Amino acid sequence: MGLPRIAVLTGAGVSAASGIPTFRDAAGGLWRQHRAEDLATPQAFARAPKLVWEFYDHRRQRIAGCRPNPAHAILAEMDTRLPDFTLVTQNIDGLHLQAGSRRVLHLHGNIWQIKCVFCDYRQENRQVPLSPLPPRCPECGDLLRPDVVWFGETLPWAELQQAARAFERADLALVVGTSAVVYPAAELPFYTRHRGGEILEFNTEATPLSPHATSWFGPSAETLPRWWAQFCAEQGLARG
Ligand code: NAD
Repeated sequence: MGLPRIAVLTGAGVSAASGIPTFRDAAGGLWRQHRAEDLATPQAFARAPKLVWEFYDHRRQRIAGCRPNPAHAILAEMDTRLPDFTLVTQNIDGLHLQAGSRRVLHLHGNIWQIKCVFCDYRQENRQVPLSPLPPRCPECGDLLRPDVVWFGETLPWAELQQAARAFERADLALVVGTSAVVYPAAELPFYTRHRGGEILEFNTEATPLSPHATSWFGPSAETLPRWWAQFCAEQGLARG
């Protein structure tokens, strides 16, 4: 028998050990008297694009100082070692790519990508701090915005379809550092289970997914490398 097909869903918890706060950790904190949830909306951007960009510029500066942790590294290793492997993330921090994962399905976009609100213009942009704010489209002159999915916006359809197909055919669904409450992402591991596959959860605490999964409780920077070492030993897979 070949190696199991694996699909992975990651959330903010996978980046916690890199120093990026999860939503819940950040919930008590305000940025200039605003809640993050109130700035990450199309309405906020239409009302105050400079303010929203200052918030994202602040986040970009914070993330620019963060490095991938061992959980990101293991997922990048899995990408090179497994013939059928898909990594899906809700994170916008870009740390999976930085760790060396070759292909990542970003369900909520990427903070290092910016796009025009009007035309098809898109660019990778790593300038920190970004100036002037708000940036303007070099093609049409309209506003550029972060290429992330804001509250009230739909997820990118192509990425979601590819993610759904990967979880449907997977033997193992790994769910790492996500509260498993934000739909439709939270639904993905159930596609694996409905086809007879297994769900493994890596989280510091129980989530609504836990009753349906085998849970590895603890920081994913520790539990994921432990699980992977065990998996490699069981499968007779040499470490890269
Ligand atoms: P969430 O904040 O709702 O949940 C994070 C989960 O990670 C929780 O279940 C928590 O128990 C767990 N966790 C915390 N520390 C952990 C650790 N060290 N190891 C393992 N698990 C740990 O985040 P979510 O589920 O990703 O969903 C909320 C939304 O917030 C997403 O849409 C995401 O795009 C966005 N977000 C992204 C980032 C990022 O890009 N790094 C950061 C914050 C929020």
